[in-house]
Parts: sequence; structure tokens; C-alpha cells
Amino acid sequence: MASWNLSFDYASVFFLLLILVCYFSEKMVPLRSHRAFLVMLINDLLSATLEIVATWMIRNIEVIGYNGVFFALTLSNLAVNITCITFTFYILQLAHIDILKSKIQHSLFIGAISVEVIVLAINYFSHWAFTLEDGVYRVSYASLILYAIDGVMFLVCLVTIVRFRKHFQFLRVVPLLFTLVFCIIMAAIQLTAYVPMLHLMITALCLIMFHYQQNAGTVTDMVTKQFNRRFLREYLYGKFSEGKPFGVVSVAMDDFKFINRTYGAETGDSLLLQVGEYLNTVRSSGIVFRLGSDQFYLVVDRRVSQLSSVAEEIRERFHQPWLTSVGTEIMMSASLCYIECPKDADSYDSMIDTLDYSTSLAKKSRKGGITYVGDLDLSKLRQEKAIETAIKHAMDRDELKVYYQPIFSVKDNVYNSAEALVRLNDDALGWISPEDFIPIAEKNGMIVEMGEMILTKVCRFIRDFHLADTTIQYIEVNISPVQLRQPGFAERFKRILEDYNVKPQQINIEITEMTTFNSSVIVQKNIQELVDFGIVFSLDDYGSGNANIDYINRMPFKLIKIDKYIIWDSFKSRKAGITLSYTIGMLNALDLCIVAEGVETEEMREHLAKVGCHYLQGWYYSRAVPEQEFIRLVAAQ
Ligand code: C2E
Ligand code: CA
Ligand code: CA
Repeated sequence: MASWNLSFDYASVFFLLLILVCYFSEKMVPLRSHRAFLVMLINDLLSATLEIVATWMIRNIEVIGYNGVFFALTLSNLAVNITCITFTFYILQLAHIDILKSKIQHSLFIGAISVEVIVLAINYFSHWAFTLEDGVYRVSYASLILYAIDGVMFLVCLVTIVRFRKHFQFLRVVPLLFTLVFCIIMAAIQLTAYVPMLHLMITALCLIMFHYQQNAGTVTDMVTKQFNRRFLREYLYGKFSEGKPFGVVSVAMDDFKFINRTYGAETGDSLLLQVGEYLNTVRSSGIVFRLGSDQFYLVVDRRVSQLSSVAEEIRERFHQPWLTSVGTEIMMSASLCYIECPKDADSYDSMIDTLDYSTSLAKKSRKGGITYVGDLDLSKLRQEKAIETAIKHAMDRDELKVYYQPIFSVKDNVYNSAEALVRLNDDALGWISPEDFIPIAEKNGMIVEMGEMILTKVCRFIRDFHLADTTIQYIEVNISPVQLRQPGFAERFKRILEDYNVKPQQINIEITEMTTFNSSVIVQKNIQELVDFGIVFSLDDYGSGNANIDYINRMPFKLIKIDKYIIWDSFKSRKAGITLSYTIGMLNALDLCIVAEGVETEEMREHLAKVGCHYLQGWYYSRAVPEQEFIRLVAAQ
């Protein structure tokens, strides 16, 4: 050991100090794993330093004396062996395993440390672990016990990483395992060839862990310097598994878009920064997270009885002005909602859903107020969640059905087309109306996949039932604005048609006025691409929104479907009747084809045909029916 080249150890000490500086210069992350990482760092630093000191002492044994050197070697050995234990402890913390809760793990750690301390403490007399004779350091057979402990710890790490891999993302697991294996190789080299490389390798491990797991930059939001949403999940995972009650106060700024628009995004950002900083000073001193653009969560170890006073304190602050960077005073308002977990929500997802729902209600009706979620009627939210589960279930099992409602051509006196309407029948909830489940699928994004499933079914129907050989020239498919906002939507749409050999003329897309109103570049691009491909667009629910004629002229519509409520109104009121016949006259003059929806009676059919509607759709002819029934209906005309 006296002849060891200590360059590697010096490098280790340097890098470990560097990591420590980075660690303390960043925001403290309130996780046990973060603290365990610090313990590991300090232990490694101590261990590398002790190795340097012990080597230096051996070289100067004549001056220092046998006992002093032996003592330094004992400490250095202890520190190296404990490194393995602190690392294992850290890995368990990353996996959110509380070793105090599990007797086996608890005893494993206490046992391992005790054995190491005892073996090294009695080594002064027994010389079982190492010897120091004539200034020469030698490892003895009892060291095998210490290596065995390291081996067990290594196995515990491996099993934990593999078993709880969802806590260690794939990219983190690979370098972690790689370095771990290298540590073992280095330990073997150090023991056999006496090259002190182990600490450098452990330092590399710390560096990797710091970069991937402990770097506070990845869990904080750049603008407000508060923790981000990603970290919220990790933090609350630990909170929920502890099982102790805690509260979350949501602070959602009201009309923040207005502030951004009026004062500019920079001022908006600086105001958010101030709000985040203020929330950190709230009496209850909780942990602050920035959720979305203008929403914060304050997580506090308080029960519901105390949460209202926390919320009250925050509201008080919002009665005072905030300062912009140029010194102007601005009044801001925030809607506050609070929840006690696990009483009001027992999982992360249900907590987020409940708070989101309450916040959106509060923003509508109680701006600037305080809402306790326990006081709200959450039945609508539960219903929404139940429908969401039903949709997922139906999509996973391919149980969504597409029904077809025929559309009658006045000129040809036959059914010339049909509208595809999706149907969902759930075991628990029964038939669910698309009016109820489509908005939910739009909100959570499932509509994208659902829309493709529907289009695929429609294309398969056109191909398998040879619709081209019947009077049905095309099928109208409803497309949601969410689908049109997807980049590459038109591409995928075309590919599905091609897969089933369906011609563009056999599919019409129905979109509502709102879809294209104020639409983005992506929406325009998707529409244009599909128009170029040969798809015809129909404007759905005409009259229910705010489209004007200029807008209809600009968009590539060939068919206009008049909203069924407008049709029904025209039979109830004279004025509505006159408006409708003039509207039809104008659309006719613009060479647009008109479809009247909601035709329920003979009287309606006769009148609508007379005033100039080209196509009629409604229960008078047929409701939307399954494929086979639709084919029979078409064949029987
Ligand atoms: P929509 O596009 O306006 O569809 C017409 C709705 O009117 C359908 O309701 C249809 O069954 C109903 N209807 C048709 N004729 C009559 C009638 O004479 N009397 C009455 N009372 N109702 C009539 P449905 O199937 O419940 O669909 C409701 C809405 O859900 C649709 O309104 C559409 O916005 C949406 N939807 C349905 N299927 C799909 C789909 O595949 N994709 C998308 N994105 N939305 C869909
Ligand atoms: Ca429609
Ligand atoms: Ca419609």
C-alpha cells in the first residue's frame, strides 16, 4: 500500500468535492433519497481521504508509529466497506422503500454495519481482517466476511433496481448497472493488483447518479424556480405511501392570460416568480410546485381543519398589489381549492383529477374564492371518470361499434349516403351517448385513437359490403377538432383509406363550425391535404355556432348540414321558419348542397324538400343502425 499511486484517489476527492458544491448550490429536494445521496457522498469523500491519509501514514510509519497507522487503516477499511452499505441504502430510498418499516431490511442493515465494526474493531488483537507487519499492509482471510457483506448489498441493489424499475427510468438503469458492475471489477483489481481505482469508480457512480437522479435542475421549473409537475408525482408517491394525512392547496391565477397580453410575457413570468416565492413563505411552510402555466400547488403537512386558514392567508395576500419589474402595482386574483389526502383522494391520479375539476368549477363560479373539495358535489367528476374507464375498456377490447344513419336524396329518391355514428355499450353503465363520451375522449386525447378506429371500421364496411355497388355513394364521418389539430392527421387518414382500397370520393368528413373557426396552421394544412386528396368536407350543425357566410366561402365545404335544432325551431316559430327558408335560398344560390338533419315526421320531410333541401336525414327514415341492418335497409328501397 505504501507504493500505491494515489493519483486516482486525489482525482476522486476533487470530483466528490465538486459534486458536493453542485449539490449545495442547487435547491434542496425534499426527498429521502436526496438526503441519502448526501450521506453517500460524504461517506465516499471520507473514505477516499482516509485511504490517502492511511497510505501517507504507512510511508511515514517510523514517525507516526504502529498504533497510529493501524488505527488509520482500520478507519479507512471501515469507510470503504460502509460505502457499499450507504449506496444500497440510497438505492432503496430511490425505490421509495422505507427500511424502518421492514424488519428484515432493517435487521440486514444493522447486522451488516455491526459485523463490519466488530470484525475491524477486534482486528487490532486478532489480525483477522488485515495485518501491518514491518510497514507492509496485508489483507487476511476475515476480509472475506466483509466482501460477503458487500456481495449481499450488491445483490440487494440489483434486485431492487430490477423489481422497482419503474422508479428508475430505463436510461438511468443502464448506466447505473454498468457502473455497478465496474465497481466490482475495480474492487477486485484493487485487491489483487493493488491499484487504488475503487474510489474513482465510486465517484463516477456518484456523478452519474447526480446527473440522472439528484440534479435539482430536472425537477424545478425554469421560470418560477419552484418544483415542477414531474417532481410532484414522485414527491407525492412517497407521501401517499407513508399514509400520513397531508393537504394540498391549489392556487390558480384568474385571467392570467389577460395579464400576459396586457403587460407582456416577461412581466407575466416575473409575477409568477413572485407568487412562487411568496407561497414559500406562507406560515405553514409547505413545498411549492408549479403545475401548469398559471397554477401552483402548496403541499403541507396539515389536516383539513388547518388548511382553510392556510388558504385564507394566501387569499389575504392577493388582496394586496404585486409589483411589476418596472414598479407598477398590479392586483391579481387567484381561485383557491384545497384537499386533504388520503381522506378526500387516496391516490395521485384521483387527487389531480379532483383538484383539476374543483379548480375549473371555482374559476367559473367562485373566482378569487376558497373552495374545499369535500364541500363540492363530485358526482359529475365520478361519472366522467366512470365513462373514461368505459371508453378505455371498450377500446382495449375493440368493443366500440359504428352505426349508420341513412341520408335520403330528394332528387334521386334513394338513400345516397349515410352518417357513421359511434356507439358505446358498457357492461356497467349501459348505452352511453356519444354526446357524453366524445367530449371526454376529446379532453383526454383518446379521440385521436378512437377516430382512427372508427375510420378503419367505416373503410372495412365500405369494402366488405361492396357499398360501391349500392346507391350509397359515400359515408359521412365525424371528425373532432382535436384530431385535426394533430400533425400528420391527414397522412394517417389517407393511409387508412388506401389500406382498404377506399376511394376518397367514398368518404366525406363532417366538421363543425367551431373546429375551423380561429383554426391553427396545422388544422389548415390537414384540411388542405385532404381536399387535395379528393375528400369532400361537410359543415356540421350549421346555424348553431357563429360561422358567417364569408367563412363558408373561404372553407372548402360542398355540403352544409343544418343543425337539427334549427330545423325543429322552424316548425315551431314563424320567424324561425322564414329565417330557415332564406338561409336555404342563400346556400342554394352559393351552389352548396344542403342536408337537413332531425327529420322526424312526414310533414317535415315534405316541407324541407319543397323549400330546397337536397338531402334529408332523421328518424322519419331511420335511426342509426348496425351494419347488417343498414344493408337490408338500402336493399329494401
Ligand atoms: P351529430 O354529428 O350532429 O350527429 C347527429 C346526431 O343526431 C346523432 O346523435 C343522431 O343519432 C341524431 N339524430 C339524427 N336524426 C335525428 C332525429 O331525427 N331526431 C333526433 N332526436 N336525433 C337525431 P348521436 O349519434 O347521439 O351523436 C351525437 C353527437 O356525437 C354527434 O352529433 C357528433 O357530434 C358526435 N359523434 C357521434 N359519432 C361520432 C364519431 O364517430 N366521431 C366524432 N368525432 N363525433 C361523433
Ligand atoms: Ca355529424
Ligand atoms: Ca349534426
